[in-house]
Amino acid sequence: MSLPPRAYPRVIIVGGGLGGLMLAILLDKMGVPYHIFERAPKVKPLGALMSLNGNILALFDQLGMLEDIMKVSLVSLNSSLYTEKLEKITEIDVRSHYEYTGYKFLMFPRPDLFTILLNRIPPDRISFGKRVLLTKRQSSGVQIVCSDNTCYEGDIIVGADGAYSAVRHNMFREMREQQEQEVLYSGGSSIVIPPSDTKDFEIPYLCMVGVTKSMDPDKYPVLRHPNTQLHHIIGESTPYSVKDQAEAKEQRFMNSEWGPEANEKLIEIVHDFPVTFGGKLGEIIDSTPKNGISKVMLEEKLFETWYHGSIVLIGDGAMSAMQDAVILANCIYDLENLRPESLTAAFRDYKEQRYTHAKRQIFNSRLNAKLSSGQTRTERLVRHVVLNLLPRSIQNKQFSKDAAYRPQCTFLPRVPDKGTISSLPQKPSRRYQAELRAAAAAAASVDETRRDSKLDLYCASSMRSDACLVPKRG
Ligand SMILES: Cc1cc2nc3c(=O)[nH]c(=O)nc-3n(C[C@H](O)[C@H](O)[C@H](O)COP(=O)(O)OP(=O)(O)OC[C@H]3O[C@@H](n4cnc5c(N)ncnc54)[C@H](O)[C@@H]3O)c2cc1C
Repeated sequence: MSLPPRAYPRVIIVGGGLGGLMLAILLDKMGVPYHIFERAPKVKPLGALMSLNGNILALFDQLGMLEDIMKVSLVSLNSSLYTEKLEKITEIDVRSHYEYTGYKFLMFPRPDLFTILLNRIPPDRISFGKRVLLTKRQSSGVQIVCSDNTCYEGDIIVGADGAYSAVRHNMFREMREQQEQEVLYSGGSSIVIPPSDTKDFEIPYLCMVGVTKSMDPDKYPVLRHPNTQLHHIIGESTPYSVKDQAEAKEQRFMNSEWGPEANEKLIEIVHDFPVTFGGKLGEIIDSTPKNGISKVMLEEKLFETWYHGSIVLIGDGAMSAMQDAVILANCIYDLENLRPESLTAAFRDYKEQRYTHAKRQIFNSRLNAKLSSGQTRTERLVRHVVLNLLPRSIQNKQFSKDAAYRPQCTFLPRVPDKGTISSLPQKPSRRYQAELRAAAAAAASVDETRRDSKLDLYCASSMRSDACLVPKRG
């Protein structure tokens, strides 16, 4: 039985964030050559609280990484919203997620997830201090040019370099150049960059994030709690909101923040804000190593252009970046050759499989941000209606719909569903299915040979008996 041909493109991954690292792990599994180029000079444990749920934990399970992430996590059962006077507004219950997907709602410090992923990448497959400035088309593939004037060649460039992606910027430049040439030579062009793709991001929220050093559980008794305690404090008289997370297991305390010097002003403003766990916000910020404080812009935008030529983009958003990675890896596994039409077909397939889910995730993320941090009159009203008046059955219906999307690698054995809600069917890998059929056929032919040889033995032994019997009969 002949297998569909398989291509092994040299993949250049720009950006060693969560999406880039996850893609690298998957390419490693399928034996595709790759290299990650990350602009940061070294690994910096930045960020604060992150959460993952069944929508991505099924993949971690399939990759044998579930235990690793569970070790650094606490389970979240709910999150609570408070006014700035620390009066409880409401509580959001996420327990049904476990029932639906079979995976708990996990919360952990972002640096820990980063380390888990990075530990799976052979050190010679990632280069730090490589800021990619340019991408170029070559006759033999594609090339990146870094700020230190080094160049590297490959067959595919994956832009996993975050919201302000240099790869995306270069891709649009290439598209414009090609567009101009086509217009010049044939009077028209098939290349279209939707205007929305070139508009600036709206930045609804700007966050200071960080992880404190170990805190005293006598001062913060909430640290003894076996589950994550996630509290949002929504400003009324100020434009600031606070999200506190207590991690009893490692006695770490999450808080909001900025970058060291530039943050001083904001730190001064929020210093005396009271927090639900006791004391002032300033005390928590003071317990956070200054070099571990960073500024994160929570941009939200769905681009329409996901690929062009040999360039394809993944991310942003932790869960969606990793879901992008797994679907792109699945499509790369089915690549038959490195011709431009094959690359385009694979990238188109990737976008088709991801687009509606990515759109929905952005909608949900916007809604969640408004529910947990929104301060306008309308946002307060929406929060009240959704969290207090909307019947639980409608909320659960929504939860269950979202819980069904749990993509896995289609080139590896699938982890069976664990929850009460079946996962959405995925497009099977043509190649992996053919491999399974070939393996089954090979196993059957081995069985056949064994059966034949057993038959031969049986015949031989029967003949021997016969041979034996004949003389007796005779
Ligand atoms: C410092 C930081 C802290 C964060 N903290 C939190 C948090 O506490 N909670 C939370 O929920 N989310 C946080 N996020 C956001 C969350 O991690 C991202 O949404 C998610 O990781 C998306 O992953 P990504 O791989 O698409 O992009 P990113 O995580 O943004 O990774 C992009 C990577 O590309 C690199 N890069 C960018 N440009 C270039 C270039 N030209 N050449 C080479 N490399 C380049 C960047 O240095 C970065 O490592 C944080 C993100 C960052 C960057």
